[in-house]
Amino acid sequence: NQPLAEVDPEIAEVLEQELNRQRTTLEMIASENFVPVSVLQSQGSVLTNKYAEGYPGRRYYGGCEFVDVAENLAIQRAKSLFGAEYANVQPHSGATANAAVLSAIATPGDTILGLELAHGGHLTHGMKLNFSGKLYHAVAYGVDPESFVVDMDVVRDKAREHKPQVIIAGWSAYPRQLDFAAFREIADEVGAKLWVDMAHFAGLVAAGLHPNPVPHADVVSSTVHKTIGGPRSGFILSRDMELAKKLNSNVFPGQQGGPLMHVIAAKATAFKIAASAEFKDRQERTVRGAKILAERLVADDSRAAGVDVLTGGTDVHLVLADLRTSELDGQQAEDRLHEVGITVNRNAVPFDPRPPMVTSGLRIGTPALATRGFGDAEFAEVADIIALALQANPDVAALRSRVEALTAAFPLYPGLQQ
Ligand code: PLP
Repeated sequence: NQPLAEVDPEIAEVLEQELNRQRTTLEMIASENFVPVSVLQSQGSVLTNKYAEGYPGRRYYGGCEFVDVAENLAIQRAKSLFGAEYANVQPHSGATANAAVLSAIATPGDTILGLELAHGGHLTHGMKLNFSGKLYHAVAYGVDPESFVVDMDVVRDKAREHKPQVIIAGWSAYPRQLDFAAFREIADEVGAKLWVDMAHFAGLVAAGLHPNPVPHADVVSSTVHKTIGGPRSGFILSRDMELAKKLNSNVFPGQQGGPLMHVIAAKATAFKIAASAEFKDRQERTVRGAKILAERLVADDSRAAGVDVLTGGTDVHLVLADLRTSELDGQQAEDRLHEVGITVNRNAVPFDPRPPMVTSGLRIGTPALATRGFGDAEFAEVADIIALALQANPDVAALRSRVEALTAAFPLYPGLQQ
């Protein structure tokens, strides 16, 4: 039982370098966050040793008396946080949660209607190389070419045209809120099930800053590691207890074997934290930070620097920079921000003229920096750094030192050693 540094110095070095990278750069990938040390503790615990196929009280393995407590806590806390009757906290990831959802509410060959991948949808909502596009007949609605917002009249027309068995509301890159009540109405009109994938905005829902899809949807899936800021994993919620058995059996044994009990314990802790006042404050800073970013990124007379922002702003935790008229493409802009110490990902904008590996957009998120403690003043400074970095011939060294001043003022994981 020697320490990692002795057993495997190469991997120990990776951990140390990654901790240093996270500490010294500004993490603005919209789907990332920093888990609290309490979550790291569960994930690095002896719970990783335990097999627990089945569900609490009904396991296929002995010795589950303690992990049952952890899973029951995670289930209770997830239900209470989102007002659901049912929760399954076993999915290893958002993608496996989504695979279980689809196999519970649809039959291979059925038609599913989701947001176009290139307009902000997710791979698991019908992309042709994903299980969802291979097993199901996937059709899509897009955003309006002028406003870049989902137009519910278009969703209704698509639903009437294709008569899907499942309608999917949810996104990976969309800066506005969806109208879940309108989706419900359309689903009822065409006899479809409504599945909401709140992977990105679940933390905002938990904090009461975004409409809750649970009252409207037949089933809601999510990740725990984005705005919630918990361990990398997924979960499923429903109000419909008739669906519960089907959802459970489609997670296990449908998609998975043994659940990751160390991750489930960490989920319980993340859900407990998500019910706190401190969490609400963090989500408020997240959304305000994104709004400040959107406002300051847009060029105006007082600031020559700037880029276009899709939909002109945001209601959530991310901003989509629109580089279609900029000198830089998405790849170049991502690289430029990397040089100054800001990590983002390039992202296709709807109707993007450039190929998917290049793109004409950036997805810029605020959750990780809000977790780090950033407030309005820091997000304004970050916005100005980004706007300047995306200009022609920026002073990279000067911008890098402004980033360093921010990271030094908000130390990450103080005292933690990997
Ligand atoms: N659903 C949505 C909307 C997502 O954005 C993502 C992740 O990007 C997922 C599902 C998949 O989550 P995971 O990466 O945990 O499989």
